[in-house]
Amino acid sequence: MERKRIALVAHDARKGDLITWIGAHIQFLAGHAFWATGTTGSRVKGAHPELDVTPLKSGPLGGDQQIGAMIAEGRIDMLIFFVDPMTAQPHDVDVKALTRLATLYNIPMACNEATADMLVASPLFSNGYTPRPTDFRGYEGRVL
Ligand code: PGA
Repeated sequence: MERKRIALVAHDARKGDLITWIGAHIQFLAGHAFWATGTTGSRVKGAHPELDVTPLKSGPLGGDQQIGAMIAEGRIDMLIFFVDPMTAQPHDVDVKALTRLATLYNIPMACNEATADMLVASPLFSNGYTPRPTDFRGYEGRVL
C-alpha cells in the first residue's frame, strides 16, 4: 500500500461528523499519515489513537495556512475538509486560501462527506494514483 499524506480539517459544527466518518472508513484510512488543524487533530487522535495524526495550529490561528504551505511544498496528497457552510468563519480568507492551493496543485479535495466517501472508496485511492502535476511554465516564464 502506498502511504498517503492526508490533511484533515473540520469546522466546529462538522467535527463530530468527521470523527464518525473516519470510524466508518477506518479500513481505508488505517496506515496512512495524517496532518490536521489543531482541534480537529486532537479530536481525531482521541477517537482513533491508532492513526498517525500530527496536529498543527488550530485553523483560526494559522493551521489552514500551514496545510496550504504543505500542499505548495508537495507534502500533502489529499485534503479531507468537512466544511460548515452555514456559519461565518473568522478565518474565512484562510479557508479560501487553502481550497485555492488544493485546486492549484491538483490535490484530491473533499469538502463534504459524499465526496470524501467517493475519494476513499475509489480504486485510485487504494491502487495508487499520481495526479498530473500542474504546469506552471507559462506562468513562471512570463515577461513583465
Ligand atoms: P480546528 O480548525 O481544527 O483547529 O478547529 C479547523 C478550522 O480551520 O476551522
